[in-house]
Amino acid sequence: MAQSCDHDHATAPGLAGGSLAAAVGLIEARIAAAGERMTTPRRRVIELLLEAGQPVKAYDLMAAFTPGGAKPPTVYRALEFLERQGLVHRIQSLNAYVACRREGGHDAAFLICDCCGVTREVEPQSTETLTRQAAAADFAISGVMLEVHGLCADCRAA
Ligand SMILES: [Zn+2]
Ligand SMILES: [Zn+2]
Ligand SMILES: [Zn+2]
Repeated sequence: MAQSCDHDHATAPGLAGGSLAAAVGLIEARIAAAGERMTTPRRRVIELLLEAGQPVKAYDLMAAFTPGGAKPPTVYRALEFLERQGLVHRIQSLNAYVACRREGGHDAAFLICDCCGVTREVEPQSTETLTRQAAAADFAISGVMLEVHGLCADCRAA
């Protein structure tokens, strides 16, 4: 999954080789600890997302899945599972998925570069105000996902 712009980027966002294998191993252990099974499609999808290190559209996951590609339900079912386990976030504004690099099951905030498409997950600030506003509107929050758009340092420098 190449950058969508040709600015020089200081660091590649994704994992490769030993660090990729180690990250997949950790996730496998977390899934086992949760009493779930790491199937081949689940492993392949999380591997592709960690390798990319940035949001990937489901369509591109299907194409990269196997030499022949994968059927959409296979990829969507794997994504759904990984999302439920808190291992993957869906970035609505990009209609793409990204591997979570923190512990699962949390509110999330993403800094999204509109030029190269690289995202960085940051810990969201206290959602106290939102919680209060929601309570005032008699609204039950099921989750908070902030998507912050802008330009990364590399793209701004170019
Ligand atoms: Zn996360
Ligand atoms: Zn950028
Ligand atoms: Zn750029």
